[in-house]
Amino acid sequence: MTHLGRRLRQRNGALILYGHRVSDNDEGYMQGLRPQWLDQQLSYLGRHYQFISLDTLLHCYEKRQPVPEKSVVLTFDDGFRDNLDNALPVLEKHGAPATIFVVTGALTNGDLPWSQRLGYLFQNTTRDQVHHRLTGPEPAPLATPAQRKAAYQRCKPALAAMLWQQRDQSLAELASLLDVDPPRDRMLNWTQARALQAQGIGIGAHTWSHALLASIPPAEASWEMRKSREDLREHLGIEQPSFCFPAGSTNAQLQAHAAELGFRSAFLPGRPIRMNTLANADPFSLARVGLPDAPAWQLEAELDGPFHGLRKLLGRLPADPRPA
Ligand SMILES: [Zn+2]
Repeated sequence: MTHLGRRLRQRNGALILYGHRVSDNDEGYMQGLRPQWLDQQLSYLGRHYQFISLDTLLHCYEKRQPVPEKSVVLTFDDGFRDNLDNALPVLEKHGAPATIFVVTGALTNGDLPWSQRLGYLFQNTTRDQVHHRLTGPEPAPLATPAQRKAAYQRCKPALAAMLWQQRDQSLAELASLLDVDPPRDRMLNWTQARALQAQGIGIGAHTWSHALLASIPPAEASWEMRKSREDLREHLGIEQPSFCFPAGSTNAQLQAHAAELGFRSAFLPGRPIRMNTLANADPFSLARVGLPDAPAWQLEAELDGPFHGLRKLLGRLPADPRPA
């Protein structure tokens, strides 16, 4: 069925995949893609697709040259240190290039991106309740894992709407109340980003603070974008990075703004296409699909098995499995 599916479907164009952490745990309520699953997935992709870099793909668009048939572009968001420790050896084994979209504030100060930092606080607290304006008017119970996760989820929307200074302040208050010190060694630093660059890994911009840009005022969103671009220029000598909107939080104005600011490309979330071609996308409307945090058979079924064909028949594609 899978074999037949592969033959029946249009395979020209480039499939762009994304992941985040490559790790065996779900720290901060963000599940890691297990290194052995990434290894299996790249084995599968290497047999049926050709790996190309995002740079190669963008070159095709810029020169109006056809996108290589059945090509796949790998990307990782946020800039976790496990991308160096766990993903790079697997990428090298399979000869697969990749681009990492980094939260430049995290590389500068070591902090986890805010939503994962928040998750870490609630995952690791030993307090049995917390009383803070973000968790509601009454003290929130924290005795069980389900209660801790619920409290984490209650805090997220308010934090998402804050500017980064206020958000960091609120997270510091929660860290103190919950008596947890978030780790500061989980993200790449600039020296490690340079080491990845030297290994041929592309580095792109993913804002300064992982702000959800459509949730904050446009001037602040613009600052987040420009700051991440300046940081990549200063620390890595990259003049025209690609941009990736955190959690896919964008709108038509922000999408146009990415081009105005001189970024080289930006993904457009929610597009009902999978394979990017010259005809159906441009550098600011590229479609991207999440790598499942699952064994290779799931990716195989998703890309080439009956599930995708059936969904296509029904005229709808699955939403991305989780925010970028
Ligand atoms: Zn992200």
